[in-house]
Amino acid sequence: MTNILNNLNPEQLEAVTLPPVSEAGQSQSAMILAGAGSGKTKVLTTRIAWLIQTHQASPVGILAVTFTNKAAKEMLTRLSAMMPINTRGMWVGTFHGLCNRLLRAHHKDAGLPSTFQILDTQDQLSAIKRLLKSLKIDDEKYPPKQLQYFIAHAKEKGMRSKDMDRGDSFQNTMVELYQAYEEQCQREGVVDFAELLLRSYELLKHHQPIREHYQERFRHILVDEFQDTNALQYAWLKLISGYGTSNPSSVFAVGDDDQSIYAFRGADVENMRLFERHFKPYLVKLEQNYRSYGHILDAANHLIANNTERLGKNLRTDAGHGEPVRVYEAATDGTEAAWIVDEIKSMINTGSTRSEIAILYRSNAQSRIIEHGLFSAGIPYRVYGGLRFFERAEIKHALAYLRLLENPNDDTSFARVVNFPTRGIGAKSIETLQDSAKLNNCSFYAAAPYLEGKAGTSIGAFIRLIDHMRDATRHYTLPETVDYVIQNSGLIQHYVNEREGQDRVENLQELVNAATAFIAEEGFAQDTVASTSQDEPVLEMSPLAGFLAHASLEAGDNQAQAGQDAVQLMTVHAAKGLEFTNVFITGLEEGLFPHENSINEDDGLEEERRLMYVAITRAKERLFLSHTQSRLLHGQVRYNLPSRFLEELPATSLKHLTPRNKDARWGGATTTRMPSWSEGSDWGGPAATVPRSSNSAIAAPISSLPRKDNGHGFRVGQSVFHTKFGEGRILAIEGQAEQAKAHVNFNRHGAKWLQLAIAKLTAID
Ligand code: ATP
Ligand code: MG
Repeated sequence: MTNILNNLNPEQLEAVTLPPVSEAGQSQSAMILAGAGSGKTKVLTTRIAWLIQTHQASPVGILAVTFTNKAAKEMLTRLSAMMPINTRGMWVGTFHGLCNRLLRAHHKDAGLPSTFQILDTQDQLSAIKRLLKSLKIDDEKYPPKQLQYFIAHAKEKGMRSKDMDRGDSFQNTMVELYQAYEEQCQREGVVDFAELLLRSYELLKHHQPIREHYQERFRHILVDEFQDTNALQYAWLKLISGYGTSNPSSVFAVGDDDQSIYAFRGADVENMRLFERHFKPYLVKLEQNYRSYGHILDAANHLIANNTERLGKNLRTDAGHGEPVRVYEAATDGTEAAWIVDEIKSMINTGSTRSEIAILYRSNAQSRIIEHGLFSAGIPYRVYGGLRFFERAEIKHALAYLRLLENPNDDTSFARVVNFPTRGIGAKSIETLQDSAKLNNCSFYAAAPYLEGKAGTSIGAFIRLIDHMRDATRHYTLPETVDYVIQNSGLIQHYVNEREGQDRVENLQELVNAATAFIAEEGFAQDTVASTSQDEPVLEMSPLAGFLAHASLEAGDNQAQAGQDAVQLMTVHAAKGLEFTNVFITGLEEGLFPHENSINEDDGLEEERRLMYVAITRAKERLFLSHTQSRLLHGQVRYNLPSRFLEELPATSLKHLTPRNKDARWGGATTTRMPSWSEGSDWGGPAATVPRSSNSAIAAPISSLPRKDNGHGFRVGQSVFHTKFGEGRILAIEGQAEQAKAHVNFNRHGAKWLQLAIAKLTAID
C-alpha cells in the first residue's frame, strides 16, 4: 500500500486499517485506549486518510471530532500533507463547531433565526444579570454565576426547564429563572455554548429526515479525546451514528482515561465504559510511547500509579532515559520567573526554538509574573487563553455593533453598545426601554418605537444609526463592513480621544485584518460550505455571520501574531494533546497544584493528578518542575508546601537544582495567608532577598522603602506617566545609570519592567 502506513507500529497499523464493516456486513466500531504520546491522534488522522485513499469513504462522509479548533486545523493540515484532497467540505471540528454548522444549515427546523448569534461565557453572564434585573430578583440570593452554572449543568444533562424537578422554593425559583432565560434567548435569537449542543441534539432527535440524512452521510465517525465527552455529547454521538438502528455507522473513539480532566464541566470517563457496552468496539491498546524520553515517562507512570480509578495500561519507550527531570525550589514567584527566564535564555543560546518551549501553570493568574520576566528579557512569548483578542472590551464592542447588523433583536449586544460611545442615553431611558420590551414581549430593538419623550428620541437615533449602517454596508465585503462599522459607530473616535486608547485603536484596526484573514482562510467568497447532496440545504451563513461565529468559538484559541517564533504559555488544561521539546511546569505547591478546591475530595485529587499526568507527558526531551516558598496570588502572599505530586515522582528520575530543606517550612501550616503587599522588590535577586523567618519584613509598604537614586531622578513609590501604558507607580528600581530599570505598576496594563534610559517615563508627582 501507500506510504501513509509506513511508519506505524503493528498495533497502530491494526487500528488504522481495522475494517469499518465486518464480514457479515455489519459496521464495526473501535476504541483505542492508550496512554499519552502513544500515537492516538496520529492513528486517528491516518485512519481518515486510509479510509479515503482506499475508497471506503469519501471526504464528505467523514465526521471527526477534535477537542480544540487548533487540533482540528492541525488535523486538516496533516491530511492535506498526506494526500491531495480538498478538506474544505469536511466535517472536522469541535463538538461546538460542528453543532453550529448543523444549526446554521437547519435553523428553521431548530427553531432559530438564520442570524442567530452565539453567546460566549461572558456574554451569557451579562445576559443572566440583565434577566435578573428585569425580573427584580435579588442577585445576592440568586447569584448570576450560580444560575449560569445551574443552566449549563442542566443543559449538559439534556434537560430543559420543563423537564426539571421543582423541589424546594430555591430550586423552584432557579428552574423558573432557567425558563425565563430560555425565553429571553429565544426572543433575542441567541444561543449559549451548551445550547449549541442541546439544540442540535434535539434537532436530530425530533426530525427524522434530517437525522437519517446525516446518519447515511456520516458512515465514519471519529472522536479524539473521547474520555472528556459529557453525557449530552455522548447522546449526540449515538444519535448521529444511528446507534440502535439496523444500519449504524462505524465509530472510532480514541482516549485515555488517565487524561480525563474535565469532570468539573460534566465530562464523564464512564462514557468509555458505556461506549464499550453499547458499540461493542474492537479494542486496541497502544503501549509504545513515541514522545518522551525515559525519565519523563517514568515520572508520569509513577505519578499516575497513585490513582485508584484506572482502566489500567502501561507506557514504555525505546528512546533511552534522556536528561533527568529538573526540580527547582524558588523563594518567591519572582525568583521562580527569573529562573525560568535564565533557563530559557540558555536554551535559546544553544539553539532551541522558542515555540518548542512551553510554560505550563495550573491557574491563569500565575502567568502575569512569568510574562513580566519574559517581557523584560525581550523574549517573545504567546499566551494561550487569558485575555484573548476576541475578549477584549473594544473588540467586544465592535462585535456587538456587527451582531446588531445581523440580528437587531440581540439584546445583549444592544445593551452593550446603546450608550457606548456615550450618546446621552441614561440609565433611566434604558430602564424605560427594558420595561416596554417586557410589556410588549419583544426585543429592545422592537420596543424602541413605543417609547416617547426623551428616551424615544435618543434611542430612536441609535436605532437609525444601526439601520443606516446595515443599509450602507449591504454590498460591502466583510473587511469593508468591519471597517465601516468601527468608524461610523464612533468607536474609533472614542478611543482616539482617550488618553490610553492607542492600543485599543490598534486592536480595532486589527479586527479588520482578522476579517480579511478569515475570508482568506475559510474561502467564503468562493464557495459557501459544500453541500453534498440534493436534500441537504446549502449552509445559510453570510460571511459576517460566519465571522461572528468564528469570533465566539475561537476566542479560546491563540490570537497572537501568526508565524512569530514565541515561547508558549498556557494552562495545563489548554495543553492537552500538544507536545513540546521543553516543558516547564510551574507552581507545584499544595493549594495551587493540586488546587485547594480539590484537596479534600478523593475524586478531585485524582482529577488533579490526571492533570499533572497530562502536564508531564507534554514534554519530549526536557522537563522542568518548579515550586516556590511564597507567592503573591489574588493580592495575597501565600506560603505553600511543595506539591505532594513532587513526592510521588521517582527519585531516580529527578535532579534537584536547589538543596532540599524540609525543615525550613513556615510553621508547618500547608497554606498561610498573609496581608497583601506590593510585589516587585524581590525580582531577580538571590533567594535570600525574602527573609524566611520574619513576616513583618516582607510586608513593608512601598512608602517605607528607602529611596534610591538611579541617575534618572526616579524613586520607588513615585507616580509616573508612560506614553503607551499610561499612569503607573514605581514598585522597584534596579541598577544604575544606563542599566537602571524600574518596575512600574500601570493602572491599566499591569506591572512592567522598563529600561529607564529608553522608556519614555515622565514623573507626575
Ligand atoms: P496525547 O494522549 O497526548 O494526545 P497521542 O496518543 O495522541 O498523545 P500523538 O500526538 O498522536 O499521541 O503522538 C505523539 C508523538 O509520537 C507525535 O509526535 C507522533 O508523530 C509520534 N508518533 C506516533 N506514532 C509514531 C510512530 N509509529 N513512529 C514514530 N513517531 C510516532
Ligand atoms: Mg492526542
